[in-house]
Amino acid sequence: MTALVGKPATDWEPVIGLEIHVQLKTRTKMFCRCETSFGLEPNVRTCPTCLAHPGTLPVANGQAIEWTIKFGLAVGCRIADRALFARKNYFYQDLPKGYQISQYEAPLCVGGRLVVPGPDGEREIRLNRAHLEEDAAKTIHVGGVEGRIVGAEHSLVDFNRGGTPLMEIVTEPDIHSAEEAKRFLQLLRQTVVELGISDAEMEKGTLRCDANISIRPAGSSELRTRCELKNMNSFNFIGRGIDAEIARQIAVYESGGEISQDTYDFDAASGTLTVHRTKEEAEDYRYFPEPDLVPYEPRSELIERLEAELPELPGVRLARIAPVVGYETALDLVTSARDALYTKLIAVGAEPKAAANVLMNQLAAAGVDPEAVNPDELAKLIERRSEIPGAVFNEGVAASGTDSFAAIDFISQSSISDTSELEPLIDRILAANPGQVEQYRGGKQGLLGFFVGQVMKESGGKANAKVVSELVRAKLND
Ligand SMILES: [Zn+2]
Repeated sequence: MTALVGKPATDWEPVIGLEIHVQLKTRTKMFCRCETSFGLEPNVRTCPTCLAHPGTLPVANGQAIEWTIKFGLAVGCRIADRALFARKNYFYQDLPKGYQISQYEAPLCVGGRLVVPGPDGEREIRLNRAHLEEDAAKTIHVGGVEGRIVGAEHSLVDFNRGGTPLMEIVTEPDIHSAEEAKRFLQLLRQTVVELGISDAEMEKGTLRCDANISIRPAGSSELRTRCELKNMNSFNFIGRGIDAEIARQIAVYESGGEISQDTYDFDAASGTLTVHRTKEEAEDYRYFPEPDLVPYEPRSELIERLEAELPELPGVRLARIAPVVGYETALDLVTSARDALYTKLIAVGAEPKAAANVLMNQLAAAGVDPEAVNPDELAKLIERRSEIPGAVFNEGVAASGTDSFAAIDFISQSSISDTSELEPLIDRILAANPGQVEQYRGGKQGLLGFFVGQVMKESGGKANAKVVSELVRAKLND
């Protein structure tokens, strides 16, 4: 950020709010019975309702409503007694009705918060709301630059995605750095995944995030003109995009300019921002209550049932683990669903950092399902780690997901510390390297490592290095 040269970065405080779209993994669409399948030929998952033929009527998807309420309960939202659907009017080819059914006044979930543990302690990010809406169809612009409408010869519309249920989550402007935005989003993602309501994969577009960004002099509480950043399809791009937008705004203010309320796309390849379109105001959409859908009044039994189904949230587990193994490792454990196994390993006496390390490295590399692992046996293997050859340890971790895995048997069968097996191997290595043997005996003691290394290599990494080292030394000193 060259604009900051000579000035401390603390002169400006970023103010960031996020709008997140989570595609719910219901079997059918939001207002019709079309299946929500993906990767199919264009326009095979359509019906008169989601193509907006005259005379068709929407019927709200009960599962999508339940799941949105479930999310709301998980993050402490107030659930509406009477929620309304609304028409959001705009004209574009991805919206055959000419309006999107969304929620405006009286959304399903209001308020709430996500407590985000970080390296410097916890931060509470307040939510404004979570509501339900239908997704638009997918437009493909042909002949232009990078699939954009500018310069395109024509546009194709695929209505398979049109009408898919989306939960939109809006935060308050409580986020103050790109890093914090990323942490919030990672935790939010993990929360919806564990609630079982969405796959929430940014790369596949089932989790999408727009950021509203402004800056203000540090210490002030004013809210200046904000810009919206769209189309960021990975956690990494979100961090970089927000940082780029903050730097742009600082440069504008510091050169005496003003910020206008624009929407930008972040191009990750070039790291640049391009103007997307001038931001509409809410009144441009002429929201009004959807006359074809009755207001939704959740029953108290439903709320009680959903509340009882809530699992312990990832943020709570993260906060518990982070002080022991560090924030980054804890986040890795929680977001890879390995933290339950970590907790079991600790419970049977494994050293926390060693356990976390093995789970995030060897176990992850071997692709072992953490739920299949017997924690007692893996803990025994971890405890013996320093005594057994590296290759044997790695193989053991890889085998720890099988039913019959027993650490002690595995170690004794797989690692070679039997002298009668190792001696011929050592003799062979010494015979093959007469020059080095002579040098060693002439005083070049550092060559011991060379011989041990050769023996280890010959054994496929399975020889016990400590035993080999003792045997080689004894032979050379004969
Ligand atoms: Zn349909």
